[in-house]
Amino acid sequence: MAHSNIPEAEKILDKEIKVLDYGFIRLVDYLGGDDRIVQAARVSYGKGTKTVREDRKLIHYLLKHEHMSPFEQVVFTFHIKMPIFVARQWVRHRTARINEISGRYSVMENEFYLPRREDVCFQSTANRQGRSDEELPEDLQDRVLHLLKQSYEQVYSGYSAMIDDNISREVARINLPLSLYTQMYWQIDLRNLLHFIKLRADVHAQKEIRLYAGILADIVKKVTPLAWEAFEEYDLNSLRLSRTQVRKLAGVLEKTDPNLLKELGMTNETDETS
Ligand SMILES: Cc1cc2nc3c(=O)[nH]c(=O)nc-3n(C[C@H](O)[C@H](O)[C@H](O)COP(=O)(O)OP(=O)(O)OC[C@H]3O[C@@H](n4cnc5c(N)ncnc54)[C@H](O)[C@@H]3O)c2cc1C
Repeated sequence: MAHSNIPEAEKILDKEIKVLDYGFIRLVDYLGGDDRIVQAARVSYGKGTKTVREDRKLIHYLLKHEHMSPFEQVVFTFHIKMPIFVARQWVRHRTARINEISGRYSVMENEFYLPRREDVCFQSTANRQGRSDEELPEDLQDRVLHLLKQSYEQVYSGYSAMIDDNISREVARINLPLSLYTQMYWQIDLRNLLHFIKLRADVHAQKEIRLYAGILADIVKKVTPLAWEAFEEYDLNSLRLSRTQVRKLAGVLEKTDPNLLKELGMTNETDETS
């Protein structure tokens, strides 16, 4: 079987899925699906698979034991439109191939991200990188939105005036803020896409990029449902414990549930030098 043709993926191919006010994610193309992971793991021709049940078992085994290279055989290409501050977080993920719209070449559109009123929050005191849950008076939220809108209008009219005066685009664009929308083609393999989703769908990530990560997750579910299921089971919803935590837990389980202790492959090792 040369090409994977996944009906659920075909349905969303080339469709813009809206995010935020002007953003979107569009699945441009995909290479391979769950069957490709299985073929690669077995280095087999054709279907290379026995039954869906066996494929599922193999994919779960691979993910559980972190045999991740077969997941790199599946590749996604997306067209994404996002505010520049989201793009700055996005491009920290180094294992993708990117082409971004050039503000030196193109005249940038008058498209700035304006948060929804409920997303205008106080600074969190518990999380230095986050927003507070504390309720904000509506008039303050409206004032913030008005300020943002006003500055966008001012900044874009300055930009347009410079463009009209034939000032080079690469100079005119330097007054544009982080809220301006940019676009990129983003190609990444499944292994690294799952890693991206894990970090960026997490509650510690900024809400705006989390919305994008959630859509990427929905797309992965359609293209590689078995891999997604295994990822949810062994990675996304799993928990990493420190050695100290393992020891504490082992101590409790030894008394309460020795069978589970054995099943988890834990020992109640208390020797600090081990
Ligand atoms: C909630 C959150 C807050 C953040 N805050 C900040 C911040 O305040 N400041 C800041 O600068 N960054 C911040 N980051 C970015 C973060 O430090 C990472 O750069 C980003 O999440 C990409 O992660 P990564 O390196 O694992 O992923 P990728 O770059 O996608 O790499 C994927 C994997 O490939 C491997 N890899 C990639 N490159 C190398 C390499 N050179 N050597 C060895 N292995 C490699 C690693 O296993 C890596 O996990 C934040 C990220 C998150 C999710």
